[in-house]
Amino acid sequence: MPRIETLCVQGGYSPANGEPRQIPIIQSTTFRYDTSEDMGKLFDLEAEGYFYSRLQNPTCDTVAARICALEGGTAAMLTGSGQAANFYAVFNIANAGDHVVASSAIYGGTYNLFAVTMKKMGISFTFVSPDCTEEELDAAFRPNTKAVFGETIANPALTVLDIELFARAAHRHGVPLIVDNTFATPVNCRPFEWGADIVTHSTTKYMDGHGSAVGGCIVDSGRFDWAAEPGKYPGLTEPDESYHGIIYTEKFGLGKAFITKATSQLMRDFGSVQSPQSAFLLGLGLESLHVRMQRHCENAQAIAEYLAAHPRVSWVNYCGLPGNKYYDLARKYLPNGSCGVVSFGVKGGRKAAEAFMKALRIAAIETHVADARTCCLHPASATHRQMNDEELLAAGVSPDLVRLSVGLESREDLIADLDQALASIE
Ligand code: PLP
Repeated sequence: MPRIETLCVQGGYSPANGEPRQIPIIQSTTFRYDTSEDMGKLFDLEAEGYFYSRLQNPTCDTVAARICALEGGTAAMLTGSGQAANFYAVFNIANAGDHVVASSAIYGGTYNLFAVTMKKMGISFTFVSPDCTEEELDAAFRPNTKAVFGETIANPALTVLDIELFARAAHRHGVPLIVDNTFATPVNCRPFEWGADIVTHSTTKYMDGHGSAVGGCIVDSGRFDWAAEPGKYPGLTEPDESYHGIIYTEKFGLGKAFITKATSQLMRDFGSVQSPQSAFLLGLGLESLHVRMQRHCENAQAIAEYLAAHPRVSWVNYCGLPGNKYYDLARKYLPNGSCGVVSFGVKGGRKAAEAFMKALRIAAIETHVADARTCCLHPASATHRQMNDEELLAAGVSPDLVRLSVGLESREDLIADLDQALASIE
């Protein structure tokens, strides 16, 4: 098996003699066939192939195959955004009347998707602390629980998920663990190696890496047995009448059932596709992911150390700092580095944080994280503004928290920028 660096550059695409060296952009909504019979086989899921880019497109599938190889999965699909990836990953196995256990330390958009929008669809969620004990986690399960969800490194709380503990609990209750691996990327952590069953990504972040294209991805480990408990996952184990009664687990096996169902039902009906152009940019980003992640982590580590020693900084949260609550978990799950995102509090609270951010010259104020350019955000007044103080604290976001996404600029220039901005606070 090629190493991660080789997979970043070449995974998922091996051109034959005379074919393009770079992944071609197949900018076509539609595909031609000689006979209706040929096309009919595609509609019946009897043959593999493309007919309409709302469901599948060759460029998207090639890039998905690269991410699949990076995560060590059996099947993968791209989605139009990370939000779509998390929605599909859960909705593919949970129906109205079902229940999901999720870590409370997750991205604010995902929290809203679960607690508000999917709740309206009849799916209920129990949020547990990412630091909960196995007993506390066990207590969150119900007979109708269909999945457990967490983020490897939570945005913006930067908690590190004890993937093995969450996977053990999920499997004890006969459900899969879904892990959003956006911040770590498969370069720094491959959740399948620790027991996770499904991995999701906002590829908008480090994978694209240049702030160019919104996108998402879902990868299946192919290890979760959907048929183990009869009737528990009927969407995968019972006939789908919209495809002449095929049964996904029987026809596609455990390796491909989950992704085939998500593509042929959810993509068909909701259409949150990634464009071939965006997939191409994502593929380009993946080619340097291993090099960029290393530099993001080195820069972030240096900046976290600088901030921790600064008299105007009240606290720093970065799991690479000895003494951080997640230092040991990070050494276990993220031995080569975590990510480029550091959070900290500026003495003087909300007002001082705002003044500091205004004074920055290299780092810009953005809602985005995890691309080449350094940026920062005050989540309590932006991404998490829909949460009350209690919910903010449960998500690990204090009102004075500044999230700094450390980019690929010179570490010395970045520290000089932070230095002048901190010095400018009155
Ligand atoms: N998951 C995580 C961990 C994120 O940080 C984000 C966005 O910031 C998302 C999912 C949603 O992704 P997108 O913005 O691509 O829809």
